Parts: sequence; C-alpha cells; structure tokens
Amino acid sequence: MRLRDPDTGDDIDDAITLWFPAPASVTGEDVAEFQVHGSRAVLTALMAALSRMGLRLAEPGEFTRRAFFNGKLDLVQAEAIADLTAAETEAQRRQALRQLDGHLGALYHGWSARLLRGLAHLEAVIDFPDEDLPPETEAEIATETKALAAEIGDHLADNRRGERLRDGIAIAIVGPPNAGKSSLLNKLAQREAAITSPIAGTTRDVIEVAIDLGGYPVVLADTAGLRDSADVIEQEGLRRALARAEAAELRLFVFDARRPEDAAGAVAWPGPDTVLVANKIDLVAGRAGLPGEAFAVSALTGDGIGGLVAELARQIAADYDGVAPLLTRARHRAALEQAHDALLRSLAAPLAELRAEDLRLAWRSLGRITGQVDVEDLLDVIFADFCLGK
Ligand code: GDP
Repeated sequence: MRLRDPDTGDDIDDAITLWFPAPASVTGEDVAEFQVHGSRAVLTALMAALSRMGLRLAEPGEFTRRAFFNGKLDLVQAEAIADLTAAETEAQRRQALRQLDGHLGALYHGWSARLLRGLAHLEAVIDFPDEDLPPETEAEIATETKALAAEIGDHLADNRRGERLRDGIAIAIVGPPNAGKSSLLNKLAQREAAITSPIAGTTRDVIEVAIDLGGYPVVLADTAGLRDSADVIEQEGLRRALARAEAAELRLFVFDARRPEDAAGAVAWPGPDTVLVANKIDLVAGRAGLPGEAFAVSALTGDGIGGLVAELARQIAADYDGVAPLLTRARHRAALEQAHDALLRSLAAPLAELRAEDLRLAWRSLGRITGQVDVEDLLDVIFADFCLGK
C-alpha cells in the first residue's frame, strides 16, 4: 500500500503493512509492521512522519523486554534471542534455538516448582504442628531436597560445555619451535592470523583466532614454541602457553615430520584430548617413523588438513551433541550455585524453620534465572546486550 505523510500528504513509499493485534503479537501488544524499501531516504521520511505522531525508535532489546513483561518469554528465552542474533556457527545457533524453545527454561521451572512444593509442605509442618499431617512428610521433603541438590549439582558439573559453546571451544596448538604451529593456525583459520617466520621462537605470546570448525565455534590459540629459553619475554610466553594448553579442551601437538622423535614431547599432555599432528609431510617421503596415531599434514600445501578438521569436529561433536540442555551463562551458573548451596545447607540444618529458610533462598535463586522473582536490577544488564530492533 501507499504510505503517505499524514501532515503533508506526500507519498513516502510503496510498502507492505502488517497488523498484529494484542495479545497474539510477539510482544503481547498491538504491533504494526511496515515493510518498506530500506533506503536511507525512505527510512528518514517514514521515521520523521512517525515521530511527529509521537512514536520513537525502540531501545536496544525493548521488544524482547516488552515480550518478557507481557509473559511471552521468560528471561532464559530473552537471553536466547540475544544469543541467536549473535550466533556465528551452527552449533551456537542450535543451542540458542533450543534455549528459545524453552528446553532450558523448562528444566529450571521444573526444579523451581518442585522446590516450591517442598517449601509449602515444610511450612505446613511448621505452621500446623497439631494437624494430622502424614508423619513421613518431613522425610519426603528431605529426600526431594537431596534429589534436587543432586540434579542441580550434575547440571553444574557439566565442564562448562554450554558456556563454551557460546564463547568458543578452546583448542591450543602446542609443540616445539618451528614445527609449523603458526602456519597450521593460519591454514585452519584460512587467513593470515598469526605471523609465520623461519626464525625459531617468533611467536612469543598467545595468539587467538575464533573460527568455525565444522559448525562449532572454536577459539584456536597458537602458543609460543615450547623450548627452554633464557629470554625473559620468551619464558613468559612459554608460561602462558602452558597455562593455555592446560585449560584448553583439545590440544594439537604439532611436530616436524622430519623429527618424529619430537612427538615424545606430547607426553606432557596425556590422554585423548591431545591430537598428534606431524606437519611438513610435504618434506618427507611417506609416514616412515611417525607414530601411528599422528595426523600427517602439511600446513604449506594443505595436505591432510581436511582429515584433521574432520577428526576435531568428530571429537567435539562426541562431547557436545545430544546432551541434556546445557547451562549457557555465567549468570545462570551463579544462581544455580547459590541454589545448590542453599539446598545443601537446608539438608544440614537442625530446625525445620532454618530448613525452610534455605529452601526459600534456593527457590529465589532459581527464580532469578527465569525471571520469576525480583529481577528488576538484572533487567538492564540483560537487555543491554541486545542490538536495536530486537
Ligand atoms: P612455529 O614456530 O611452530 O609457529 O612455526 P611456523 O609456523 O612459524 O613455521 C616455521 C617454518 O616452517 C616457516 O618457515 C614455515 O613456512 C615452515 N612451514 C610450516 N609448515 C610447513 C609445511 O607444512 N611444509 C613446509 N615445507 N614448511 C612449513
């Protein structure tokens, strides 16, 4: 339809307009949507006409905030929208979408409801000691509290997988100097992210690149060549490299295929999380002398890189796919830890009144995650993450 300026009568644009009446709209309020030709001139004219009618641009996250206040979303879902708009890889998109679908919220709501039931029963025991409450009520509450503490504890002990999936799974590239670590990082990142040079020990600090590895967000860290050095800066680089490698989820131990004896250096990181990579395969004939489990690649020619990427993606998938809803945010973790602590305190408390108080605290902590209880102070922080128009 033709959009016209109501004051001047000037034509603004040919547009599609959609009307979503409350309460079925995305925010729960009446919503009008204009689909216009998105040029600056059209937008300026349209916005000028609309603002004369007393309308204004939404603040970042305002639509989602209204949807939350109108009960269209809980806080966990609102955060999922922020994650969905920021998602860069398939795995991040899937996780955010699952969260938006309410799987994570349902888990927290479920715990919250069970807690509230336990709390209500305990308060009945306290308030009506003379009533004929079943004698086993208190024991049942304790059993349920124990079960909840165990479930929340398991959810917390997830090795931060959900948070890592949001922020990037850390893979550290380690190995002796000049093995081709920076070259491999470049090859994996498919751009010149780290400086390669033929002089040993040039990567003095930790260089990080965020990449999409087979659909998973990965933060690759190239570390300083592992060798003894008197150079203070290089030693500091080495210390950081070791710390990074320790903390990483997977490690690529890269060595020069011409020096198979260097593969022994990987013993510092035993276990399946360390992948052996024999680089510079273009410089040797065949795999003679290489450990059987080593991936033979050439960061120069790209030989074997596809196989290495597939193996890394397989290992990540084994760890991340098909598991129960994952904890995705530090905010949720903090609240769950508080809830967990309160449940444990409740179990140890000698008096029913104290047990009830701790159950109440646990319930409030859980409620803060989804936005059921006192969240006013949290809202600004959460919605500040949003971009305009969401
Ligand atoms: P780093 O010290 O382990 O980071 O090693 P670099 O990535 O800086 O590489 C050291 C040298 O080896 C550079 O001159 C690279 O060009 C060279 N290099 C790296 N990978 C390969 C490879 O696969 N084949 C060949 N022929 N040379 C490579």
